[in-house]
Parts: sequence; structure tokens; C-alpha cells
Amino acid sequence: MSSIVRTMTQLQSTLQKYFGYTTFRPLQEEIIQNLLAQKDVFVLMPTGGGKSLCYQLPSVLLTGTTIVVSPLISLMKDQVDSLRLNGIKASFFNSSLSRKEQDTVLHQLETNAISLLYVAPERLARPDFLERLKTTHINFFAIDEAHCISQWGHDFRPEYRQLRLLKEQFPDKPIIALTATATPRVKNDIVKELLITDAKTYQASFIRPNLTYRILPKQKPFDQVLEYIKSRPGEAGIIYCQSRKKVENIAEKLQNEHIKALPYHAGLPDETRKRNQERFLREDVDVIVATVAFGMGINKSNVRYIIHYDLPQSLEHYYQETGRAGRDGLPSECLFLYSYADKFSYERFILDKQNEIEQKIAKAQLQRVIDYAQSKLCRRNLLLQYFAEETHETNCAACDNCNNPQETIDGTVLAQKILSCVYRVRERFGISHVVGILTGSQAQKIMQYRHDKLSTYGIITDYSSQDLKMFIYELIQMGYLEQSKDQFGLLGLTQKSKALLVGKEKVHLTKPQERIITIKEKKPKFDDSNMNPQLFNRLRSIRKRLADEKNVPPYVIFSDATLKEMATRFPQTKDDFADIKGVGAQKLEIYADIFLEAIDLFTKEHSK
Ligand code: ADP
Ligand code: ZN
Repeated sequence: MSSIVRTMTQLQSTLQKYFGYTTFRPLQEEIIQNLLAQKDVFVLMPTGGGKSLCYQLPSVLLTGTTIVVSPLISLMKDQVDSLRLNGIKASFFNSSLSRKEQDTVLHQLETNAISLLYVAPERLARPDFLERLKTTHINFFAIDEAHCISQWGHDFRPEYRQLRLLKEQFPDKPIIALTATATPRVKNDIVKELLITDAKTYQASFIRPNLTYRILPKQKPFDQVLEYIKSRPGEAGIIYCQSRKKVENIAEKLQNEHIKALPYHAGLPDETRKRNQERFLREDVDVIVATVAFGMGINKSNVRYIIHYDLPQSLEHYYQETGRAGRDGLPSECLFLYSYADKFSYERFILDKQNEIEQKIAKAQLQRVIDYAQSKLCRRNLLLQYFAEETHETNCAACDNCNNPQETIDGTVLAQKILSCVYRVRERFGISHVVGILTGSQAQKIMQYRHDKLSTYGIITDYSSQDLKMFIYELIQMGYLEQSKDQFGLLGLTQKSKALLVGKEKVHLTKPQERIITIKEKKPKFDDSNMNPQLFNRLRSIRKRLADEKNVPPYVIFSDATLKEMATRFPQTKDDFADIKGVGAQKLEIYADIFLEAIDLFTKEHSK
């Protein structure tokens, strides 16, 4: 056999020819070299980091077939379509195939006719299939979404446990395991379970430079979301909610506002769920409203925003869910509507969990989410610290706390007024009632208890009821007040209250924000000011038509990044077109003429 390690130029020309890219992303090249040298590899890279290319590119260079284990059938088809469009021979093998189609694939394996084969883990473990593989010329095994093997990951799948038999039965075949889940515990599980404890580990930074993170005080969440969506017509987004009921409710309300939105949760009939997901991928609708059930297997590269309507379950979940935005590297936003009040509904939800340990873990995770949301520090750094990554950046210019630091006010007198009021009503009333007294409400309940006669009645005039609620939540968070855990949520004083009431301590409270949505962006990270948006839209509709004809999602044809480059550089010749990132040899042949003609026509129309 000739030397397996390829020269850099060889790798680069393969990258250009099959993927249309000129440079590797960080770590890709080292990972590929190691695979070609027959070593086991463990890859940790954030979503959008370019994991697939790490096993796809060497598969083209090697002479056999790479077996790719992937958990989701829907994902396999897209990946295979995508590879084929790039001129790479690939197939998938799963229960969705007919008998005849299965035979075709088996024949391809036997005759060494494909470079990659995607299979589900349960299929791989079947003795008859394993026997087949023994007679196949295998390059190596690639385990995608490898965290599914770990109970500590966010998506444990028991079938993945069977994968240890790969090393047992094919000891001389390298394994590459890939995941975007970076906790050390999950990593240990993966290498242990796959019997690759000596694997060379590559960990990319978990920074997602193209994502902007911001938290908005949750006030009128539906209006806030609607305003946001309307400001981004035609862009794709995902809205995460806590309950199925809410998912359906919000999706319906959005539809009533003429937003193209669909619901997704595990309680919908299989058919509906599949169809809704498909319509989102195919760009028939812009928005998916979903529970956590939606996500893995969403390969759609041009999701432009993620909205958390409710609290995420953990920071890990938050990172993964927001990570579905901007796989194509273009600027995308993560918006989190936060209210401390949501904590209580979530705690009730946690109490439904059966065992005590689960409850304890869930509570601890929830607390980290609250701390994150309340923090005044850089969001990006907070997330990275969660993954134990060191950060040195002091101003990321892409989160609300860096772009728009929250102002505080001296809230000592205000807090004294609130605490006195709680004291006067003998700690027997909830937030709304206390706020009502402080703002001088004439609500029946207040009159009935003669609370309009209290000295604290109507003593706060310079803040709205909404502001006051926020202050109260902040005081709870700081331990100056507490709220009963029952359904009444009665406000009570604490050990700390006294020091504040007698003037021994001062507190700073967050200054209420007038804005609902708008945030002044400091500097856009990605400059597409030279891009022609009209041309971009036209190219998008051409892409959509071509995709529908081929029955594939649009991003399989070209990514948004590729179209934007066309709409910026206006290629005129086939050579120009070949220079656009994402245009490989085969796509050049199939698509250059169509797109060049459209660009030419557009130029003529607009030069008159
Ligand atoms: P992951 O699986 O890590 O989430 P993907 O493999 O889906 O990421 O890659 C994300 C996007 O980045 C894809 O559109 C892919 O084509 C693109 N990509 C991968 N490698 C490169 C590269 N070297 N240069 C430019 N784009 C790349
Ligand atoms: Zn920041």
C-alpha cells in the first residue's frame, strides 16, 4: 500500500473539488491526517464547527467504504443527498428502505461502489448485518452524535450501547467519535463505551462567534416575540416553550397574525410531526414553535434565530438549543425571554419527577440557568465557563451585557417600602396584592381588606406595577424576601430583611428598561453591506425551486453563505463561479449556468 498520509496539497485539492472550500476549519486537517494514519479519534466541536467533513473527506481519499453511525433516519437522507450533490458516492441503510432498495445498497457494499454508508445503530448490531460487514472493505467507523452513548448526555439512546462491539469485532478498524457535547463526564463515557480510551482527542473552542446572546425581561412575551419575528421577514427561527399546550397555543396565535409557523412536540401524531419538520426544512414555513423534543437532526444550516419563550432545562440544553442557529457561520441571534416568576412554575414541574435524585439534579440545573439569566457578566464567557473553557475576552461585543450593560439604581428606600408593606399585611399576601397596595390600586380585594388604609398604600408613584414586580423578584433572588412554595406564593420577610429595614444595608436594583426589544448593536460582526438583498432573495427562490424539483431541502443545494457571496461578488463567468465558497466541481457543472444566467439577467434589469 502506498503511504497513507497525504500531502497538504492533496487534501486541499480534495476539499476544493468535492466541497468547494479553499481552507480547512480549525482542527479539521489534523483530524483527517490522524484518520488516514489509522488512529482512533475523538472530536469535540460545537454545532456548525464542521464535524462531518472530518470523516467525509478522508472517505473520498480511501478506497473502501466508511460506515457512519447516525441516530436519526431523517438526517441520513439529507446527508446522503448532500454528498451525492457534491459528487460523492453515498447511501444509507435503514428500515425506511424497501426490500429491493436494501438489496441495492447491499450490492453496493459488496462491490465497493460507495464511499460512505449511513446506518442506524440498531441495524449495525444485527448479526446478519455484521456478517456482511466482515466481507466489506471498510475504511473506518464514524460515530456521529456520540454523546447518545452516555446517560449523562442530553439524549441518551440505549441502542448506542451496542456499539462497543465495533472495536471487539473489528479491532483493526479506526473509530472516529464526534459530538458537540463537551462535559468531561460525557467524554469519558464515550471513549470507555467505544473501547477507544487511547483515542486522540481534538477539542475545538465552543465559542460560536456568529451568535449573539441576549436576555429580555419577559413582559408581554407574545407581543415581544411577534414584534421580533415581524422585523425579520422570511428568516427561519425556532421558538422553544416548556409545554405542549403552550407550543400549540403560540403557533396558532402566530398563524392568526399571518406568520408562517407550525408546532412541534412529542405529543403530536408522528405524521404531523414529521410533516411540520419537513416543511420547516424545506422553507415552506419560517417558524417552528417547539418543545425540547425538536432539535437533534435539524441539519438546517440557515436558522437565523432561536427564541426561548420559557426557561431552558439546563445551561447544557440552552447551549445545544441555541447552537442550532447559524450553522452556516452567518450572524444569528439567541433571544431568551426571562422572568424570575417562571422559576416557580418550573419547580412545580420538577416536583412531578419520580425520584429524589432526579429532582435534585433538575433543581441544581435550574439554578444555574437562573444565575446565568440574572448575571451581569458576559453571556458568552458564562456559557464557556460552564464547559470549563478558559476565556480571556473581556468584551465580546455580541451579548447584551457587553453591548448594553444594565444600569442599576440605589434601591434602598424602594426596597424598604416594599418590605414594610409585606410586614404590614402580615406576610399573608402574594406579589400582585402587595404591588397593588404600593401603587394605590382600587381593586376590590384591596378595599375588602381595607388595605387602602395602610400607611404603605399608594406610596410608590414613580414605577409601574410591572417594574415593581421585577424589583420584588430581584429582592427574592437576593434573599431579602421569600415566597411560599405553595400555590399561593405568599411573600414573607427573611433573616436579611431586618438589616435593610433598619437602614444598615443598601441594595442596588436593576434599572427598569423602557425598551421591549430594541438593542443598539455596537458593531455588526459580519459585514454584508455590499450584498444585494434583492439578488439574494431572487437566488433563494431559484434555490427553492431546484430543491423542490430534487425533493431535498434548499440548504443541500447551496448554503445561505454561498448565495450571499454570489449576491456580493456577482460572478460573471464559470471561473468566477467556481471561486465562490461551497461550489465544488460537481455543483459547478450542474448549477453554474442557471445561477450565472439569473445573475446576468438581474444585472441587466438593474443597469437600465
Ligand atoms: P457540525 O456537524 O459540526 O454541526 P457541519 O459538518 O454540518 O457541522 O458543518 C457546518 C457547515 O460548515 C456546513 O455548511 C459545512 O459545509 C461548512 N463547512 C465545513 N467545513 C468547512 C470549511 N473547511 N470551510 C467552509 N465551510 C465549511
Ligand atoms: Zn459578552
